[in-house]
Amino acid sequence: MLANLHNAAIPRPVLDVLRRLRELNFAVFLVGGCVRDMVRGVPPKDFDVATSAHPHEVQAAFKKVIPTGIQHGTVTVVIGGTHVEVTTFRSEGDYHDGRRPSTVTFESDITEDLSRRDFTINAMAYDPLSRELVDPFGGQADLQAHVIRCVRDAHERFSEDGLRPMRAVRFAAVLGFTLEPATQAAIPPTLPVFRKVAMERVREELVKLLLSPRTESGLVLLAETGLLEIFLPELARADAEAARLARAAAHIAPAEAELRMAALLADLVSGPQAREIGIRLKFPNKVAELLGLLVEHAALEARIGDSDPQLRRLLARVGLGQLEPLLAVAHARIQIRAPDRLPDFLRLQERLRALAAAKPPLSAKELALTGGDIMATLGVGPSPIVGEATRFLMESVLDDPALNQSERLKELLRAWQAGKV
Ligand code: ATP
Ligand code: MG
Repeated sequence: MLANLHNAAIPRPVLDVLRRLRELNFAVFLVGGCVRDMVRGVPPKDFDVATSAHPHEVQAAFKKVIPTGIQHGTVTVVIGGTHVEVTTFRSEGDYHDGRRPSTVTFESDITEDLSRRDFTINAMAYDPLSRELVDPFGGQADLQAHVIRCVRDAHERFSEDGLRPMRAVRFAAVLGFTLEPATQAAIPPTLPVFRKVAMERVREELVKLLLSPRTESGLVLLAETGLLEIFLPELARADAEAARLARAAAHIAPAEAELRMAALLADLVSGPQAREIGIRLKFPNKVAELLGLLVEHAALEARIGDSDPQLRRLLARVGLGQLEPLLAVAHARIQIRAPDRLPDFLRLQERLRALAAAKPPLSAKELALTGGDIMATLGVGPSPIVGEATRFLMESVLDDPALNQSERLKELLRAWQAGKV
């Protein structure tokens, strides 16, 4: 494992930041997720630097520095075309509200900084210049044992910051690890603290769990620990078989948050309820709307016998841009719930794609007649009859898109006015 660490590729600009601060006689290390990933032999997503230098000293050491979160000790060094986050070693004062520390104190010692971190595997520091690994809490051993364990006392740490239990389950799902018994046991008694955490933070962790390779077991662990009940009772309270099918569908849906969420909810709640859940979890409004739409229409197996005009009406309601997401959600569900209907579903999928590819008129603005044309043809001014006429024409072209030519629509309109249609 140390071989992984010593052989890890560290970007040049990151090394330049470490060297410069070292030259100035500050203590400086890589910390957190990047050290964990390098020890595992996985390329880190980003490299976080921690140092004994205070923010103003870091600012003075480099040409271009952005004061990202300077009051918490974090600045961003812009160097070699990339951004490197540099944070001053710190410890945290008491937590009053289970959300954020009341005070942040700068420290000169890396071990102090590591001791405020959440899990042993996230509480290691590495100096690639001297090849020193600082691992005061046994992070390496826990990585080897595939265990998520709190730094110090789990009950205390979960009482300080209510998000940590959710992060524990998320890391277990992402890494395929288990929760160390005392860490797991500390979750139920600290749920009142978890309840106070901002939904945005909960949702960010939920999305990482859903996109992990272990969506299903991650969701089971969320339910077993009592976390799920607090932000998604609709799933927590579903009967065992319904919950199992929902998890399985989410697991095989393509790895996009809205698709996995929709596959999870499709057979548990209605479209409007899914939209409400999206809003509750503080997804952007557009995503909440999409969740509602996808859940509303996800049971595409019910459409297998539909005619082309019926399918065009479905396309009109869903919108062409949402067709592929809808097919993905329906496909995931059907594989789990009705595998015998899969060949029929795949034929339906091809029909829907072909109908969509023909770019049929699906809304009034795509009609070959404008509102003005319709009024002129009917010989009327603005009045409710124009709306009625437009709906009539829309229904006609959804039945037969070939009718969407101005002369043919005018003819139809005259026949409609004469009461012949
Ligand atoms: P990922 O690969 O998912 O980004 P990460 O370990 O980088 O994983 P972050 O959420 O980016 O996770 O946090 C960076 C580091 O900050 C963590 O490794 C951990 O040391 C520390 N940390 C983050 N959140 C908390 C928290 N709520 N309590 C204590 N320490 C935390
Ligand atoms: Mg990170």
